[in-house]
Amino acid sequence: MGQAMSEKETLRCVYDLTLDELTALLVSWGEPAYRARQVWEWLYRHYATDFMQMTNLPKALRHRLAEAFSLEPLRPVTEIVSQNRWTRKCLFALPDGETVETVLMLYEKRRTLCISSQVGCGMACPFCATGLSGFTRNLHTGEIVAQVIHYARWLADPHAGGADAAPISRPTRVTNVVFMGMGEPMANYDRVWRAIRILVDKRGFNLGARHITVSTVGIVPGIRRMAEEGLQVRLAVSLHAADDALRDELVPINRTYPLRVLMDAVRYYIRKTGRRVTFEYALMRDVNDRPEHARALAQLLRGVLAHVNLIPMNPVEGSPYQPSTRQATATFARILEDAGLPVTVRLRRGIDINAGCGQLRRHILQVDGRQVMPLPVVSS
Ligand code: SF4
Repeated sequence: MGQAMSEKETLRCVYDLTLDELTALLVSWGEPAYRARQVWEWLYRHYATDFMQMTNLPKALRHRLAEAFSLEPLRPVTEIVSQNRWTRKCLFALPDGETVETVLMLYEKRRTLCISSQVGCGMACPFCATGLSGFTRNLHTGEIVAQVIHYARWLADPHAGGADAAPISRPTRVTNVVFMGMGEPMANYDRVWRAIRILVDKRGFNLGARHITVSTVGIVPGIRRMAEEGLQVRLAVSLHAADDALRDELVPINRTYPLRVLMDAVRYYIRKTGRRVTFEYALMRDVNDRPEHARALAQLLRGVLAHVNLIPMNPVEGSPYQPSTRQATATFARILEDAGLPVTVRLRRGIDINAGCGQLRRHILQVDGRQVMPLPVVSS
């Protein structure tokens, strides 16, 4: 059984393919082109877990697909659920034994998935659990898409979650995807965009492009490239500081792309797309949360089509960076609002489940070196 599993895991992942590539492949196998469309619908509308479920395909084709492709590139190692059951976080093992995290956040009307684009991250932001773990590798397109399909299946299943299911109406689907999990998506640009094009394909998963957000710490060539993609995908920039000296410390990539260069790219993106850019700002006590920091931020964003998202950061074990107080957060927000900037303070979701990026993985890896240890599900 274990051996069969590892053989399966070395197969090519079917979610790596675009519909055009799948069509070309099936035609090369002597199948009519419409078979690819049928497979595509099984993958992205019915979330098939086994090629044998694709009952409108000839049996021989189902077997051939099963011999060529894996449908399960991710193996859930553990999933933990917040006390209020509105946030779930899954740690997945990849075929090579590496691990990534995905977080599902349920709101009244939205089901938002925060997905990973890399194993670890090379950006080395000192306040971030993922940054502290270092970079291992880029995810493949199929490993990115499969995170979404995993929770799409869960959401579509009226019995999923059992006692842990949140009190939401069902059936339901993933409504929003944000690339804010582990990794810097612009550092894995081609595979991230391939995944986006698969997810927005109207013949399959059909997620609206404007419901996808790519969040970057400021990889300028990526921002400029994204401006040319011709899709309504949203851009978020993790700023965290509005002066170069502090940002050099908090976001080391700032030494390569300082604020002037970054803001030039953001303005270019806005000119090309007409879209508002979200600026993420994680508030850290006595580091970047004082009134003078807020005023510097307001000055930096003057005249920019911007929205500011203030994030009360999740505390990271062993980190000197601590969350701001409520009072400091409220004062910071008011200064920005008085300067005419739209501001939201992001709800802190799932603090009891280590929902900050990289925190579950870091916690588990620390428990047992590189060995992944399943955690029990937290239930209320
Ligand atoms: S904050 Fe984002 S970019 Fe910085 S180290 Fe963490 S995952 Fe990477």
